[in-house]
Amino acid sequence: MKDIIIAIDGPAGSGKSTTARLVAQKLGYIYIDTGAMYRAITLAFLKSGLEFNEKNICKLIEKITISLNYTPQGQITLLNGEDVTEAIRTNEVTNLVSPVSAIHCVRNKMVSQQQMMGKNGGVVMDGRDIGTVVFPNAQLKIFLIASIETRAKRRQLELLQKGVNLTYDQIKKQIIERDIYDSTREISPLKKADDAIEIDTTNLTIQEQTNLIISLAQKKILEINNE
Ligand code: C5P
Repeated sequence: MKDIIIAIDGPAGSGKSTTARLVAQKLGYIYIDTGAMYRAITLAFLKSGLEFNEKNICKLIEKITISLNYTPQGQITLLNGEDVTEAIRTNEVTNLVSPVSAIHCVRNKMVSQQQMMGKNGGVVMDGRDIGTVVFPNAQLKIFLIASIETRAKRRQLELLQKGVNLTYDQIKKQIIERDIYDSTREISPLKKADDAIEIDTTNLTIQEQTNLIISLAQKKILEINNE
């Protein structure tokens, strides 16, 4: 049975990570959250105390290692071998991750690492540029969208569950700012690949959107294995 690459892209709060994780679980594939890698670099930068500029960040990424481990409980993000799975979700990291991700050397390093991780297939990878840059030949590309109100509400709930108390308006503003940054940057901007299937999740439950993607994936896997 030949395994495929499933690319799931979309803006913040569109439901990518939960859906991608469940799709991977169902198919027995590995789920790769590429946003966690950009967040880990941002955390390393914040810890370094360096001034924010391209030169400092490019020097820093030469010295750090970012790796992802897979456990039955989910993805563990390691920065220089240290578990930073929780630490990369703080508001401080979220506020700076988009400017860090827009830097050339950061993207070059992360994209080649992601290409290595997914090269044998059997992965569901989520991010902003998976279907356009990391795996332009992915056999199944999904682009998730949802209204800003829904995305902000989802993010607020997710943060509350982690004990982070931000107002709806603060979260909405943060998401809008990140969307603008991510979709207008010069390299690998967030955009739908021409051959991606767009799914609006505004009125879908996680289960509904997951089932939809699983059926698309199963169809594609059958097609590829019958070729
Ligand atoms: O997915 P998540 O919201 O955790 O991603 C955090 C940030 O990392 C995004 O806002 C974006 O700036 C960056 N990112 C990216 N390319 C990816 C994944 C994430 O630029 N493939």
